[in-house]
Amino acid sequence: MHYEVVIVGAGPAGSTCAYYLAVHGVNVLLIDKENFPREKVCGDGIAPRAVRSLYKMGLQDRFDGHFNKFHSFLFAGAGKSVVYNPIPPTPRFPDHGYIIKRHDLDKILLDHARERGAEILENCEVKEPLVEGGRVVGVLAEREGGRLEITADVVVGADGARSTLGSSLNLISNDPRYIGVSIRQYFEGVEEIGDCLEVYPERVISPASGWIFPLGEGIANVGVGAMLYHIKQKNINLREYLDRFINDSSHASGKLKRAKPISPLKGAILRVGLGGSKIECPGLILIGDAASATNPVSGEGITYALETGEMAAEHILESRMSGRGYHHVPREDSFREKLISRYGNYFRKGWRCIRWGNRPMFMKPLLYVMSRSKERREYMVRALMYLRH
Ligand SMILES: Cc1cc2nc3c(=O)[nH]c(=O)nc-3n(C[C@H](O)[C@H](O)[C@H](O)COP(=O)(O)OP(=O)(O)OC[C@H]3O[C@@H](n4cnc5c(N)ncnc54)[C@H](O)[C@@H]3O)c2cc1C
Repeated sequence: MHYEVVIVGAGPAGSTCAYYLAVHGVNVLLIDKENFPREKVCGDGIAPRAVRSLYKMGLQDRFDGHFNKFHSFLFAGAGKSVVYNPIPPTPRFPDHGYIIKRHDLDKILLDHARERGAEILENCEVKEPLVEGGRVVGVLAEREGGRLEITADVVVGADGARSTLGSSLNLISNDPRYIGVSIRQYFEGVEEIGDCLEVYPERVISPASGWIFPLGEGIANVGVGAMLYHIKQKNINLREYLDRFINDSSHASGKLKRAKPISPLKGAILRVGLGGSKIECPGLILIGDAASATNPVSGEGITYALETGEMAAEHILESRMSGRGYHHVPREDSFREKLISRYGNYFRKGWRCIRWGNRPMFMKPLLYVMSRSKERREYMVRALMYLRH
């Protein structure tokens, strides 16, 4: 089996990359170990920046009117101040986001790539990369008990935070500064929720944060997350923190106390801030969570999965059209440099923000000041959701 491009992982990063390559006539194979639709542990919050990417792929009709939208953002917990604001209108971004279970979102994206001509192989687990002369030339996979050797001009690793390809090639690090851990559970009977994405850096769970993301009809995705180095330093038990968030937090517990869980509690890691991944080696590029492309402040990764999927497709297409062939991917015009030039500055500010923001003495007055005027509230929403560029 030989393809121009093989993409491993059909989350938002992989399916987006496959979609753009297929639209441009590239012979592309998208592989996933699961059968779709499948569950993925997530908060299910699709921020306006991610919605821009979804609409750009022509998917507005598949989402509009079918899933719960949010038009405003709430940030509360450190002290009494609450930053609550509509998503500020801008010419570049939609004024809304969605809450969509990944079971549904990822299936829509996978089908979209398939409809545009990408070949899809589900239930196929990639075990390791095929390397020849220091260059990745394909993957070794298992499907229905049989072994498959699939070669490609370029391999894209979109295989998530635990990336098999990234680990096998020593491209990802397990430095706890670049890893977050989050758990989530679905609840029914959540009160006073609706049209709002709610994030709570509550004092009782500091330095973790909690969220309530409404799916409609009183059902919500509720979770807490923290950086791994905080979890280790403070010996944090996230289950216990979720309990505290539900029962003892000053802002959120009023909405959650009477709610009932309707799913098992599940957790997963996130790789954040481009810090934990080398992103490329000859013949292979990593995207999405495998590239550590998650927002270090909010833990939002779907936006960056969609965008790095599109950027990887552009990167590959540039090499294809240059006439120099794929052997230049990614040696020249490094993909890593492109990601750093797009997100480096923003993520660096994010790191600073986490350092200071996790200190209640700093967060309390900051929230007070930010909550006082519409302009400042808008600024904060734009900054947290990266609604620029
Ligand atoms: C609890 C939690 C809450 C979160 N909440 C939010 C949120 O509300 N909003 C947001 O924007 N982000 C959120 N994130 C982050 C978000 O889930 C990720 O950033 C996003 O899923 C990254 O997409 P991806 O395509 O890179 O990887 P993934 O979505 O992880 O997809 C990777 C795919 O690769 C497949 N795969 C893995 N290994 C192999 C293999 N060896 N062979 C074949 N296939 C393989 C997997 O089956 C999977 O389908 C959250 C994360 C967690 C853990």
